[in-house]
Amino acid sequence: MRLFVANWKMHKTRAEARTFAEELGGLLGDSPPPVELSIAPPLTALDAARDALGRWSLAAQNVAAERQGAFTGEVSATMLADAGCRYAIVGHSERRRLFGEDDALLARKLERVREAGLLPIFCVGETEEERLAGRTEEVLERQAGALAGDPKEAPLVVAYEPVWAIGTGRAATVSDAASARSRLAELLSARRDLRILYGGSVGPENARELLDCGVDGFLIGGASLSASAFARIAGIA
Ligand code: PEP
Repeated sequence: MRLFVANWKMHKTRAEARTFAEELGGLLGDSPPPVELSIAPPLTALDAARDALGRWSLAAQNVAAERQGAFTGEVSATMLADAGCRYAIVGHSERRRLFGEDDALLARKLERVREAGLLPIFCVGETEEERLAGRTEEVLERQAGALAGDPKEAPLVVAYEPVWAIGTGRAATVSDAASARSRLAELLSARRDLRILYGGSVGPENARELLDCGVDGFLIGGASLSASAFARIAGIA
């Protein structure tokens, strides 16, 4: 089933999360589209979103690489599962770029996610500089290397998110997204249950054509802050 994930980043209070959930429920009505919707709120709004969202799932935006202990400010995979999360986003480019998360750290996070019974949404994607240098495939291959120790039979979601398309209003072209999708499918061909999402400036106006490149859904930032934009994207599927 197609998956649409709303990554709210550092946006929305608990009250705003409840309002969003009410609006989304109202917009989708009694016969919602046959897709899976997941919301990744900030940690402080996880419980409010969980209580208000009903049947849609919750995702964590980040997860600690350690199991437990003296790691001030960190939140473990077990705690996120306990809070009701189904998914955990691992390796978002903002975590890689702003918080220095590297492939080795991300491989450890993946292990914690699996131990806790969460499903990873593993993000990969090249920077503008890497793209212009024709290095997209090489970057995807290196980043996918962090999945080497991840069990092949376990369900996996990978999000192709070109860094230059995130939050810029400049989405990848259908043909670029399609070739990255094919390359990832090839690199991960041993996986039994794989969904490949696209992320990067997806909105109601370009969702249709981007879905046609063969992806299994989207990871959505900016447009997911509006219940009506998110509902329109889900409705397109
Ligand atoms: C993201 O943050 O994962 C993302 C895709 O953001 P946006 O949709 O705003 O480009």
